[in-house]
Amino acid sequence: MKKHHLAAFLCTLPLLCGCAQPSAVRELFAMDTYMQLTASGNAAETALDAAQQRILALESLLAVTDEKSETWAINHADGVPVELSADTARLLQTAQEIGAQTDGALDISLYPVLSAWGFTMDTQNVPDAQTLAQARALVDYRRIVLHENTVTLPEGMQVDFGALAKGYAGDCAVEILREYGISSALLNLGGNVQAIGSKPDGSPWNIAVQNPAAPSSPLCSLAVTDAAVITSGNYERYFIAEDGTKYGHILDPATGAPVDNELASVTIVGTSGVRCDALSTALFVLGLEDAANFWRNSGDFEMLLVTQDDTLYYTQGLSEALTLPDGRTAEVITRD
Ligand code: AMP
Ligand code: MG
Repeated sequence: MKKHHLAAFLCTLPLLCGCAQPSAVRELFAMDTYMQLTASGNAAETALDAAQQRILALESLLAVTDEKSETWAINHADGVPVELSADTARLLQTAQEIGAQTDGALDISLYPVLSAWGFTMDTQNVPDAQTLAQARALVDYRRIVLHENTVTLPEGMQVDFGALAKGYAGDCAVEILREYGISSALLNLGGNVQAIGSKPDGSPWNIAVQNPAAPSSPLCSLAVTDAAVITSGNYERYFIAEDGTKYGHILDPATGAPVDNELASVTIVGTSGVRCDALSTALFVLGLEDAANFWRNSGDFEMLLVTQDDTLYYTQGLSEALTLPDGRTAEVITRD
């Protein structure tokens, strides 16, 4: 059996976990990242097949560089209204709401600026001032007009759902697994983790949070049930310019430049994957102080922030869930 056939075969084998319910795993590459979906339950195999199909369909629908995608149709409509699928309309509406809530820290119309930096391609570069100014002039999520399922963009504007699409895909996969009666599953969508229920043995899932300074090693872990744990950081995708400066893939819409504040990563914990994903990107842009204030004015998520000088902050709702390695300390963010 050829190596990749063997791998495909192995990853569809039920896992022998010593528990009553059968478990199954799927591994796939979608939305530019490796994903692993694990579920337990009698319908685990069928449910994971359906969840995988849903994720792949969303990828085809949303891929910004695919000429057949709906995002492509939106971005090449030259000011003409475009009829959207229910998925894209919902995603666009969520992006608009979180854009407004974060004063534009999340702005899905940033795509021309991301392109100017080359983050949409294989090679990145620091754009010259004129190129950047031209791209920035096209950015403003408030000028996107969404009316029911029809969207109209000003000519030249382009959108990209990269900041929240994986969270939305996770929510859709969770929904499908639940429809199949799955009550224990862990979906890892390239660092976006979404858990259904608890582990098959009833204990909470332990989700490792990466150390931004050494991404292959964990910094701490979070014990969760029925939650999304979603991290953003400029350590995930970046390039180093000729002068040695490091530029990350999360940009500040206010400047058109990669975020360069005190933060190294933001992890959001909540029930909605799409909201956690959008907020992880937006609060990374806002920085420590504004992110903490945003959390104080919200009631539907918790967060863990790591600064570039390696200090760990967590919101008080995570006190029970957080496990730190021996000798490591962390600062708590409280409501007052
Ligand atoms: P995430 O990994 O979820 O933080 O998403 C980062 C991706 O979102 C980037 O690779 C860009 O495609 C896009 N992006 C970067 N900065 C922003 C921003 N401020 N608002 C919306 N999308 C962004
Ligand atoms: Mg995000």
